[in-house]
Amino acid sequence: MMKPSFRTGLGYDVHRLVEGRDLWLCGLKIPHTHGLLGHSDADVAIHALCDALLGAAAMRDIGYHFPDNDPAYAGADSKRLLAAVVELLAGAGFAIGNADVTIMAEAPKINPHVPEMQSLLAGIMQIEPDCVSVKATTTEGLGFTGRREGIAAMATALIYIV
Ligand code: MG
Repeated sequence: MMKPSFRTGLGYDVHRLVEGRDLWLCGLKIPHTHGLLGHSDADVAIHALCDALLGAAAMRDIGYHFPDNDPAYAGADSKRLLAAVVELLAGAGFAIGNADVTIMAEAPKINPHVPEMQSLLAGIMQIEPDCVSVKATTTEGLGFTGRREGIAAMATALIYIV
């Protein structure tokens, strides 16, 4: 059976906002009154991106490869998880085309950080920064993101067989 050269994937993640934690988004520490709760650094945007990449390769999800009860990943820098996902894909013969991440948060403002986020993620994925899109939106005060109880992120990615 013929396999297509190009494949896309979708990722989605949510983490709860709490006091007393740093806020990590797309590999950057963002000054904010609250941070995201999780076993790792809880970088919800990187987690969604990892799931988009793994999904494109049909290689399960981030929780399958990096269980959240594994002490090895306690407080883990999610940039390390993304690097490991890129390795997994490379090992299966895939390269990354582009990625598009949307962060849903009432606060803080994400836009000032986007260029740095793009170059950080691009560096880890070994692609050009203009192949990585980072977008942000509020949800107009609606739902758990609107009530500032948590932050959600979605991502898509395109990968291809090298
Ligand atoms: Mg997560």
